[in-house]
Formats: sequence, structure tokens, C-alpha cells
Amino acid sequence: MAIPNICPKCNIGLVSKDEEGKPMLVCNICGYKREITNYTEHTCSACGYDKATIEYFGIIVGDEAALTMYKCLKCGKVEREGYA
Ligand SMILES: [Zn+2]
Ligand SMILES: [Zn+2]
Repeated sequence: MAIPNICPKCNIGLVSKDEEGKPMLVCNICGYKREITNYTEHTCSACGYDKATIEYFGIIVGDEAALTMYKCLKCGKVEREGYA
């Protein structure tokens, strides 16, 4: 299961940010930070950034494969992969 990207103090969405090459989730209100550990190497077609989180969208119907989506950590673009 994905960890919700929510600040535990402010209860608002965290924004992804690159700090010294490490992808972090940062709260703009209180400065809470969490290192993103579940990212993978995936080059974004929009901005060229090479780190993305993997988001799985379970099995759809019948024999369709589970969808794997990559969400760019820089611009947030979501791209589909592993689906033929
Ligand atoms: Zn916060
Ligand atoms: Zn991007």
C-alpha cells in the first residue's frame, strides 16, 4: 500500500522536492520532511527528471495486467508503463 503523502501535523499534501539528489516530500507549512524511499529510476518524458514514484492500480478486469504508473517527482506527470 502506498503511504499517503500527507503531513502528519498539518494534514495537508506534501510536495515532492529534490534535495541534494534525494527525492524528499516536504510540507510547505511546517517544514516537515520525509525522504521518498519507494521511488525508481524512470525518465520523465515531459521534464527529463530521472526519478519517479511507482503507483500501482490493481488488476482491472479479465486478463488485463495490473497497471503500473510512474509519477514524476519533479513535475508530477503520470506515465503508464508495463501495459501492452
Ligand atoms: Zn506540516
Ligand atoms: Zn517530469
